[in-house]
Amino acid sequence: MPTPLELHAAWVYTGDANSGVLKNHTLCVDQRGRIEALLPTQEAPRNPNAQQIELGNHLLMPGLINCHGHAAMTLLRGFADDLALTPWLQNHIWPTEGRWVDGDFVTDGVNIAMAEMIKTGTTTFSDQYFFPDRTAQAASDAGLRCQVNFPIINVPTQWAKTPAEYLSKGLSVRDTFKSSELISVIFGPHSPYSLDEKEIAKIATLANELEMGIQMHVHETRPEVLHAVEMNGERPIATLNRLGMLGPHMQCVHMVWLSKDDIRVIADSGSHVIHCPSSNMKLASGICPVNDLLNAGINLAIGTDGAASNNGLNLFAEVRLAALLAKLSSEDPATLNAEQALHMATLGGAKALGLDHETGSLSYGKWADMIAVNFDAAAMQPLHNPISQVVYAGHGAHVQHSWVAGRCLLNNGKLQTLDEPQIIRTAQAWRAKIAGSKSDTAYPKDTP
Ligand SMILES: [Zn+2]
Repeated sequence: MPTPLELHAAWVYTGDANSGVLKNHTLCVDQRGRIEALLPTQEAPRNPNAQQIELGNHLLMPGLINCHGHAAMTLLRGFADDLALTPWLQNHIWPTEGRWVDGDFVTDGVNIAMAEMIKTGTTTFSDQYFFPDRTAQAASDAGLRCQVNFPIINVPTQWAKTPAEYLSKGLSVRDTFKSSELISVIFGPHSPYSLDEKEIAKIATLANELEMGIQMHVHETRPEVLHAVEMNGERPIATLNRLGMLGPHMQCVHMVWLSKDDIRVIADSGSHVIHCPSSNMKLASGICPVNDLLNAGINLAIGTDGAASNNGLNLFAEVRLAALLAKLSSEDPATLNAEQALHMATLGGAKALGLDHETGSLSYGKWADMIAVNFDAAAMQPLHNPISQVVYAGHGAHVQHSWVAGRCLLNNGKLQTLDEPQIIRTAQAWRAKIAGSKSDTAYPKDTP
C-alpha cells in the first residue's frame, strides 16, 4: 500500500489562476496519490503515518506536460539535421523508420525519451508513433502519465498497412488500457495532407461518438497550406472545419501559417493549439503567432516534438524559447510573460489534453503530479522571483525530485523506476545497428 506524503517546501507554485507563489507551505498527498491539502507549514499537523519530505530551498510545482512528441524517435536524435521538413521526412526519416521501426525499437526509444523527460521535469507526455501499445506499456511500467494518440496515416509501416488497419489497431490499444489511471488513448491522424477526406471525416465521426480526443499536425509549413489551396481550393483548417474535426476535443499541433480567418475558426471551435518552437525553428517551418492566438482566447500548450527535430526533450528549454520567440516575433517584450509561458506547460497543457480535472495544477483532489526545483545553484541565485527564475534562468538540470500520482520517479536526480545505465547501453546498440545500414558517408559508421 503506498504511503501518504507530506512535502514541506520553501516555495509552492500551484499553477492555478492568480495563485502566485506561496512561501513555506506543506502539501499533503493521500495514499491513493491524490492531493488532499495545502497549508502553511506552521499549521500542518504532521501525520505520523505519512512520509515526511523536507524540500528546503526548493520550488514545489506541477510537473510539466509535454503535449506533443514522438518519443521512440529519440533513437534518431542527431541522425539527420539541417534539412527542411519534406526532404528530412522523405529522404531520411521515413526510409529509416521503414527499415528499423518495430515493437522493440519503440520500447527502447520510449525508455531513453522518458529518462530524459523525467530528469527535466515532465510528468505527462503525449505521444504519436507506431506500435502505440509499446509506448503505453513502457509509460505505464515507468509510472509516467501518457496520452497516446495512435497514428493514422496513408503510409504502410510494420505496425499497419492502411488507414483502416491503423484505426482498428489503435482502438484495440484503447481497449487494452481503458482501466489504466496513467494512460489515455486518443486519435492521432498524422496531418491533413497524409489522409484523404473520407478518412478524416470517419475519424471526426468516431471521435464524436466515442467522446475521444484528436491530435494532428496542422499548418506546419507554408508549402503545406499553399498545396492544399491549390488542390482543394481551401486551407486545411477550413477543410477540417467542414469535415467536423474541430472542437474542444481537437489538439492542433504547430499552427505556424495562419490567417485571421484560420485563427477565428480555431477560437470559435474551442480547439487547442500545441506550440513546438524548437522544432519549428530547426526545420525553418516558421513562427507560431502566439500573441494573436492568445488575444483570440485560444488555449495554448507546448511540446518538444520528436528528438529528431529538436533535438532534446527538455520542456524547460521549450518554455523559455516560447517566451523569447513570442516577444521577438511580436516586437513586444510584454508578450507571453513568465507565468503565461509556464501555464502553457502545466494547466494549459492539461486542458489541451482534456486532463485538467486530473493534473496540471497542485489542486485539491487532483493527482499529485509534481516536481521540486532546487534553487541552491549559483545559476538560480539571487532569488527575486521564483517564476522568473524557473522560466528564464532555470533549466531541466535543476529538477531534483519528481512524483506522478504520489509515486517518486526521481529522487535527488536519480531515476527510481528506470534503469538509466541499461537504457543508455541499449540506445548505443541501436545507434550501431542504424549506423551500420546508413549509406550517407557524411556520417561515419564507427563514430558516435
Ligand atoms: Zn510531430
